[in-house]
Amino acid sequence: MERAWIIAVGTELMLGQTVDTNTAWLAERLAGLGVRAVRHLTVPDELAPLADVLRKAAAAADLVVLTGGLGPTEDDLTRFALARALDVELKTDAESLEQIRAFFARRGREMPEHNVIQAQIPEGGQAIRNAWGTAPGIRVAINGTPCYALPGVPHEMQAMFERHVRPVVQEAARGRVLRTRRLHCTGVSESQVGEALAPLMRRGRNPDVGTTAEIGVITVRINALADSPETADQRLDSAEQQVRERLGDSVFGRDDQTLASVVLERLIDRKATLSTAESCTGGMIGTLLTDVPGSSRAYLGGAVSYSNDLKQSLLGVPKEMLAREGAVSEAVARTMAEGARGRFKSDYALSVTGIAGPGGGSPAKPVGLVHVGLAGPEGPAVRTCRFGSDAPRQAIRMRAARAALNLLRLALVRRRGRAARAQCLRTAGTANLPIKVSNGRYV
Ligand code: AMP
Ligand code: MG
Repeated sequence: MERAWIIAVGTELMLGQTVDTNTAWLAERLAGLGVRAVRHLTVPDELAPLADVLRKAAAAADLVVLTGGLGPTEDDLTRFALARALDVELKTDAESLEQIRAFFARRGREMPEHNVIQAQIPEGGQAIRNAWGTAPGIRVAINGTPCYALPGVPHEMQAMFERHVRPVVQEAARGRVLRTRRLHCTGVSESQVGEALAPLMRRGRNPDVGTTAEIGVITVRINALADSPETADQRLDSAEQQVRERLGDSVFGRDDQTLASVVLERLIDRKATLSTAESCTGGMIGTLLTDVPGSSRAYLGGAVSYSNDLKQSLLGVPKEMLAREGAVSEAVARTMAEGARGRFKSDYALSVTGIAGPGGGSPAKPVGLVHVGLAGPEGPAVRTCRFGSDAPRQAIRMRAARAALNLLRLALVRRRGRAARAQCLRTAGTANLPIKVSNGRYV
């Protein structure tokens, strides 16, 4: 059992009124069991197209999973479509009828007559018990291909899959698993990542490697198929090592880690604190940091200093500097960070000042120009970013917040690198390495 088709049934899904979360959930679960979803289909509540799709699915796949359309109302046609695809009649399943009656009885209600339809199963098929609702699922084999029709309500569908479908698929997969690992990078473009990883991304390899892009973050996905979880993990480890070798310290984390969580981990490790001074991001860095549980162990808080007045009064940016350089300038970014570090008494401070648009740009300072600043024990650093004058405001702000976090992450990573090198040299009897800051960057 290797290839599955997943079919989501519902006119509301076709119209975009309900977001199809069931397919994604099922695809992920099946992948974990070593079964790849090779088609995702969405079909309306219409008998003929649904029966047609079912026949095609059964011919092409090793496993077909449907969700939706098992309700008691006129528009729920999945059971009729299964019967039509099999060319059989529906018959009432006595046990299911009993369970539906009991479901209503437990709630002190009489079973409405039209619910009887939910106990009808195509001849030759089996009902699957629904622990949470009234609609039993249905198992049939169309030309020998197992097809499971599950309810549309997500928690009912999930419970039924876990209890009745997973054991069968697991058994058929005989220990085969597909495991996935995600590595997140920043500060590089998707095409740079693609170029660096080209040999690993060639088609037909196991593990297979692909990328997805989000605002300022490129994720490398590695999928390993193997006969045991241990072998899959070994394949993932080896691919991860190759990806890291090729992408260096642009890789900031893995799986559920975020830039903020990684920065916080490193700060907590060395018992250091952080504060922020944000202008165009209006508190987004603070939000990204405080999204992480336990962030208070390192993050003290910060200032949202949007106006020049607050840049002066809260952070001590000199009026003359603002007049001479403009609020969006390297000097102001650096001074904001130093001001926050001094006034909020933190070991590190991050700052952002930039032009998020859509208005307010000029030829010298276009929309998308952002300076991110860092103050810390090693001195200040500023990075100038140009995110593009046609980029949407929200994207510029998010990229700016992430660029600031990345500036600190790299400073912390490189500091650790320097400390390790210094330790080596000390052991070898050489003097400490100097820590240089040139052009406002750590080297
Ligand atoms: P049904 O089994 O088609 O009567 O669906 C019952 C309810 O489950 C619908 O009203 C939707 O709210 C929800 N639902 C159906 N299909 C999906 C799906 N693919 N993803 C998420 N929710 C769904
Ligand atoms: Mg429906």
